[in-house]
Formats: sequence, C-alpha cells, structure tokens
Amino acid sequence: MEGSLYRSLAAHEVAHAISDCNFKFARPTIQAKEYLAYVTMFATMAPAVRERILRKSPGHGYEGDWQMGTTIYLADPMRFGVQAYRHFLKPDNGRSYLHAILAGKVLIE
Ligand SMILES: [Zn+2]
Repeated sequence: MEGSLYRSLAAHEVAHAISDCNFKFARPTIQAKEYLAYVTMFATMAPAVRERILRKSPGHGYEGDWQMGTTIYLADPMRFGVQAYRHFLKPDNGRSYLHAILAGKVLIE
C-alpha cells in the first residue's frame, strides 16, 4: 500500500512537471493544474488502490467547470481529485477535456 501511494504521488508530481511545459497560455489556474495532476494520478494508480479510494469517496463527479473552483480545491484537495477523475471518465470529457485545459478553453478564471 505505501509503495502504491508513493507511486501515485510521484505520478501526480510528474504530471505537474509535464503539463506545466504544455499549457498554451500563461498563468493556468490552480484547478486546471490540479485536474491534470489528479487525473494522471488516478489513471496510473494500481486498480485495487484506486477502487478502494473511490469506494470511500461518495459522489458522481463534477458536472461542469462551475463546480471546480479554487476554493473547492483548497478546501479538500483529495475530494477535488476524486470528483475531477470521475468528471474525466464521463463520455463527453476524457482526453478532449485535457486538451481543452491545456489550451485554456476551460478551467480559467
Ligand atoms: Zn498537485
């Protein structure tokens, strides 16, 4: 379990490093950066660990950008991450949403 958590944190930080070099605009928001990092973290997490965390975290994922503010992230970063990951899994989001974040089309001030 501890090794899995360490790998998850490493994935989160590597995602920050890679995404910071790939934003197509200046000064992305905290929620934009954290959405990318948390989605990467959960997507690369050992499935058993991911399922355990998701099982303990109620909710169906964010419905839209208006629910993903800086304050929401700062109040409970892990909850933000879980709900962001569930948002990412919805059919209309996924990879295209990640590209929209990097392009500055969503999760902007
Ligand atoms: Zn982060």
